[in-house]
Amino acid sequence: MTTMPPLETARRRDDDDPLADFRDSFSFPTTEDGDQPIYLCGNSLGLQPESTRDIIDRELDKWADMAVDGHFSGEQPWSTFHDPLAEPMAEIVGARPEEVILMNTLTVNLHLMMISFYRPTPERPKVLMERSAFPSDRYAVVSQIEHHGFDPDEALVEVGDGRDETLLDEDELLEAIDRHGDELALVLIGGVQYYTGQSLDLEPIVEAGHDVGAKVGFDLAHAVGNVEIDLHDWDADFAVWCTYKYLNAGPGAIAGCFVHERYAEAFDLPRLAGWWGHEPETRFEMNPEFEPQRGAGGWQLSNAPILSMAPLEASLDLFEQAGMSRLRQKSVELTEYMLDLLDTMPDAPFEVLTPRDPESRGAQLSLRLTESRGRELFESVRDRGVVCDFREPSVIRVAPAPMYNSFEDVWHLCDILRDVVSES
Ligand SMILES: *Cc1c(COP(=O)(O)O)cnc(C)c1O
Repeated sequence: MTTMPPLETARRRDDDDPLADFRDSFSFPTTEDGDQPIYLCGNSLGLQPESTRDIIDRELDKWADMAVDGHFSGEQPWSTFHDPLAEPMAEIVGARPEEVILMNTLTVNLHLMMISFYRPTPERPKVLMERSAFPSDRYAVVSQIEHHGFDPDEALVEVGDGRDETLLDEDELLEAIDRHGDELALVLIGGVQYYTGQSLDLEPIVEAGHDVGAKVGFDLAHAVGNVEIDLHDWDADFAVWCTYKYLNAGPGAIAGCFVHERYAEAFDLPRLAGWWGHEPETRFEMNPEFEPQRGAGGWQLSNAPILSMAPLEASLDLFEQAGMSRLRQKSVELTEYMLDLLDTMPDAPFEVLTPRDPESRGAQLSLRLTESRGRELFESVRDRGVVCDFREPSVIRVAPAPMYNSFEDVWHLCDILRDVVSES
């Protein structure tokens, strides 16, 4: 087939979509001309739920009206603000509430987790990760290796051929874990790859890591709120994620962290301590000795940044209503629809880099441009009112987020791509 199906077909899909109304709960950006672009960039920054403003206003009012009393009185006192968020957050990552804590930002949490779960010895100094991991993760790992006095040239194991456009071979990854075996202290892997959109099967990675005696942690930045996650049952040691991508909690919002239940009372595990990780019952007795609380909360350092945490309340409420399994189902349908439409384009100057198997992808499709004028094509698409992004050297990332994107959005994207390609 080389013709686009009519727009009507997309509208019919939207009419049948049980989640279609969630779109109305979000603010969409507008251009200077007052047009509404097609927003397909939720993999980078999710849209603002309309209820966010009221929730932030509520906290500003509390601060204005109650000042210091806001810590312990009124509705949702700041000292326990995150408690009601733990359950809906845990639901999204397949964890028990006590295994999840909202704190800091992603890279900070990754460091805190490595302090506890990367304990290199001369016999077992290595960290294994993907060669094309997000740079921040690699910087964090290399600095941890050096912090412990080891040489990254020897202690960092990177799997994959290093070309960004290649998918990670999951068998190769498992073999590498097995091969480095008793020299491996930690396996750190991203759930969904930021560049290719590949979604990895994480449970076998935990199994392989544990089989050789390594700890296994995940960076779920692009996986959380995107694909279904089952951290507790997969038996991961730890995981970290941000909340401003598919979770729509706003720029630089509070991040999440998972520590498996088996460490809930592992108080002898080395950790960096702060007063907010102290047992809450006695925290304000101001004892000089640190007494960590049970569970992931024991890794907290500072009192919670309420204004960066409050937006998550708005977002988690929508996730609770929509449900991850329904969102995921819609997401698969959206990307399948997009792939079908892209397949109607004759001589497209790009190929879909993301795996075709829906099990191996989330909401994002990465289009790898096969010609040198990649950036030009991206800019033409953007000029026609599509918000997506370009990652050097040659990939356009588009991510229909099932929470607020429609089949019609996908149709328009493909229609615009088709126009731009035929004109160039
Ligand atoms: C988005 C992203 C980050 C960003 O880290 P911050 O600490 O939130 O700035 C890190 N790692 C991965 C894999 C990401 O996708």
